[in-house]
Amino acid sequence: MRWIGLIGGMSWESSAEYYRLINEAVKQRLGGLHSAQILMASVDFAQIEAFQHNGEWDKAGALLADIAQRLVRAGAECIVLCTNTMHKVAPDITNALPVPFVHIADATAHQIVAHKITRIGLMGTKYTMEQDFYKGRLIEQFGLEVIVPSPAERADVNRIIYDELCLGIVSDESRLRYQTIMANLVAHGAQGIILGCTEITLLVGSTDTTVPVFDTTRIHAHAAVEFSVV
Ligand code: GLU
Repeated sequence: MRWIGLIGGMSWESSAEYYRLINEAVKQRLGGLHSAQILMASVDFAQIEAFQHNGEWDKAGALLADIAQRLVRAGAECIVLCTNTMHKVAPDITNALPVPFVHIADATAHQIVAHKITRIGLMGTKYTMEQDFYKGRLIEQFGLEVIVPSPAERADVNRIIYDELCLGIVSDESRLRYQTIMANLVAHGAQGIILGCTEITLLVGSTDTTVPVFDTTRIHAHAAVEFSVV
């Protein structure tokens, strides 16, 4: 087994899921008392969120690149950045890395393509839904058509992530709102939906919509295990 380096804390609510999912997958693959070889560096999300809010992506990129290098010095053989949004600064991290970076959008896109889906709905933070670093990659590198919710819906999806899910608040009211937004994506032609924020899986899953969902937390965790268990 190779050592997995996790950069977590964005938020820790989803990092805890990564830890559980990776260990469960290793146990399933290897059996018995086997568990994953993980190094985790967990940041203070308040600092990261302030960088996002102020558009200081360069500072965030430098911080995360430094953390990735620390993980490598500690023995990490790959780096897994446990958030979709902060993949905006993935180039800052990969440029500084001598080990593979397991990209969350690539791992997810491979699954979508394997399902022969071409038109996909995307839910995530406003950065992920509205900017090009994520959508653009799906479109240009994987030939997917990406549909995002309406502006008012995007505001709600984003608010629920930061004001509730990242704080460990999971409510029926927000689940209903997400179900409606997912139904609207399907009505607009989405053949599947990307849960493109690592906390969304805490609120909704495959039983909340009629099309396949692509849970980025689970997909990314499993991609890390694929790398580790050789
Ligand atoms: N975990 C979230 C994501 O996957 C949002 C938190 C963040 O801004 O990093 O995008």
